[in-house]
Amino acid sequence: MRDAALIRPARRGFAVLAVLAVLALAGFAAVRSILPPPAIPASAPADEFSAQRAFSEVRTIAAAPHPAGSAANDRVREHLVETLRGLGLSPEVQDTVSTQGGQLSASAGGTGLARVRNVVTLIPGSASTGRIFLVAHYDSAQTGPGGNDDAAGTSTILETARALTSGGKLRNDVVLVLTDAEEACLCGAEAFVRQHPLARDGGVVLNLEARGSSGPAIMFETSTGNASLVGAYAHAPYPVGTSFAVEIYRRLPNDTDFTSFREAGFLGLNSAYIDGAAVYHAPTDTPEAMDRDSLQHHGSNALAVTRELGGRDLSTLRGGGDATYFPVPGLLVRYPGALVWPLAGLALIAVVALGWLARRKGRLTGRNLALAGALGLAPIAVAPVLAQLYWTVLTLIRPEYAALPIDPYRPGLYRIAVIALAVAVVVCWFALLRRKLGAAALAVAGLGWLAALGVVLAAAVPGGAYLATLPALAGALAGIAALYLRDWAATAVITAGGLVAVVILLPTVVMLFPALGMGLGAAGAFLTVLMMLALLPVVDLLHPSAEPVQGLPAARARRRGALPTLVASLAVLACTAAGLVVDRFDAKHPALTQLMYALDADTGTAEWLSAETDTQKWTSQYVAGDPKPVAGTLPAFGAEELRTGPAQAATLPAPNLTLVSDTAAADGRVLTLRLAPQRTVRFVTLHVAAGTQVSAATVGGRPLPVTTSAGGGWGFGFVFHAPPAEGVEVVLTVGGTGPVRLRAMDASDTVTEMPGFHARPSGVGVLGSHSSEMVAVAKTYSF
Ligand SMILES: [Zn+2]
Repeated sequence: MRDAALIRPARRGFAVLAVLAVLALAGFAAVRSILPPPAIPASAPADEFSAQRAFSEVRTIAAAPHPAGSAANDRVREHLVETLRGLGLSPEVQDTVSTQGGQLSASAGGTGLARVRNVVTLIPGSASTGRIFLVAHYDSAQTGPGGNDDAAGTSTILETARALTSGGKLRNDVVLVLTDAEEACLCGAEAFVRQHPLARDGGVVLNLEARGSSGPAIMFETSTGNASLVGAYAHAPYPVGTSFAVEIYRRLPNDTDFTSFREAGFLGLNSAYIDGAAVYHAPTDTPEAMDRDSLQHHGSNALAVTRELGGRDLSTLRGGGDATYFPVPGLLVRYPGALVWPLAGLALIAVVALGWLARRKGRLTGRNLALAGALGLAPIAVAPVLAQLYWTVLTLIRPEYAALPIDPYRPGLYRIAVIALAVAVVVCWFALLRRKLGAAALAVAGLGWLAALGVVLAAAVPGGAYLATLPALAGALAGIAALYLRDWAATAVITAGGLVAVVILLPTVVMLFPALGMGLGAAGAFLTVLMMLALLPVVDLLHPSAEPVQGLPAARARRRGALPTLVASLAVLACTAAGLVVDRFDAKHPALTQLMYALDADTGTAEWLSAETDTQKWTSQYVAGDPKPVAGTLPAFGAEELRTGPAQAATLPAPNLTLVSDTAAADGRVLTLRLAPQRTVRFVTLHVAAGTQVSAATVGGRPLPVTTSAGGGWGFGFVFHAPPAEGVEVVLTVGGTGPVRLRAMDASDTVTEMPGFHARPSGVGVLGSHSSEMVAVAKTYSF
């Protein structure tokens, strides 16, 4: 080969520095552009969103854990009503019973339902063309005060309402929907969507959530056919969203209040900040944990998008397909989904043209290009595998990491380590093959993989195709230009091509890490590999000429070729070591444990239970052995397997199940029952023995599907959250005339009051889960 190097500027050292500086600056600007804006003080003008004003609401709302049905939740609701009245609005409380929204995993133990009390407020428009719904849930999980989840969304809506009512009237109606029982079963949103008159005509929903304590407020979910809506969202002052996130989220089993609205045909956007997820649902999710810049981001965008939608003709929003969109410094790039395939095809053609021209120019041979193409799969496959291994090794060093819900408290250095790991894999691969196959063959092969992946994504995940297609297209066009340019001009176009990859992919890597957590670091590693494949011409610039150069012996040239790999590998080690030092567990950042207690009122025996996948040291004093199904005595757990251990029986009253009436039906009986908790509980459950045919069921006046089955000898059942003290009416139509066995269970969150419980030492905390700290009492009845 005449020249294996791609570009060979006269003063290589200077060129390397200049190119790296430009790319680093572009990367910095791209990442900076998705970070939250600084919080605005309370002295801001009345029609602006001030995070400091909103934060005073956060303090009130998240003073204590306030799950649906709790006295603390009553206080929050009263405060919301009072605050909205203070703005001259007329809030009403929608008090009803609703079944669950979305496909919650809780369905394993039966259908979820709850008594909910939503706070609904209409701000009438001047000439409304439809309704805009601002939605957030005001209840919290039982294990934490919900300082972020979702006092962030609730306080954002209060501050937005304040700003809206102090400015001029909008054209369209705005409805503030502060929902209850989101954490329990998404029942509040479902109740509003299915039962409230203001929801009857549909509209546009902006749902505001938090799954962590910091990071940008990302618009991560849309209704389908989002082109016009995303156009409105682009008017936000700090738009951070990508059509890729929407595609990922649609494939995850997660649900928020938005699910109920979306499934009922509403249009809408769902936004949340998600970094700092170690506090998710935990006692550490306090107001103090909140990054107020994230609150400002939420609010600035929510207010601006509400004003934008508030002035539009909402009837024109529907239609048009899904758009592709992503943030670049200063704007949200948008183009119609119809362009996904043409662009993917164009990128493929451009890469083929580059390969053909490079061969004609003698930069590569067909054989080497084919080999490079085949071997190009290596870094794409190896880096994600190493990223997964990396997390496995970290959890071996720190077993407490295995119990964290999504991320460690301070995962920043580990994330950088995973990025460096992926960089190391690509530069090592490049250094090993560069002399044999030539830099040009490797670079074209790298772009070829990007273009091919763009086609695969266009078919499977169209909203994410731009991640591979655009860097491939830019890289190929730059490569073609570089073939006909010399020296500085060639270096400049190659840098421009790499710039596209950095600006598009680096912010996505930064958003993806908190979205999926360290446990799925493979995703971030994968996108980093894509970025590096597009940057191979720049990587090549870091290497001395592949040809023997006078005065530089071959051995030393090889050593220099290993330098980038060495630097990246050292970065992995340094970041890991520093990460382990920085991210230690202490009282403010406790290791997370999960413990429950269950009393079987039939036998008077009790046991400890834990849902931890790897038993933590603290928990091992209560439970041991392998996880096993517990549905036999606790049908609400469905197929879930738990570790157990013997416990001292506490004196706790079982939920009362009484027969109100028993009438004969066509081929069986209609039983009317009353299920009443005998203590303060968060929910009650009821399950019917598997052998009994249940053909219809109504609970709290709501008909339930009868197809659910709990397992462990139990069939149909339900979980009723926030039950009234007088109990819940249950009407069952059952087959046969023989006695019917039923298992009633209740649950409070009082594990620390049980006999034999020892207070957690400092540095050991509570995992934010829907069953943490639960005390269940179960009893079998027969009628
Ligand atoms: Zn939430």
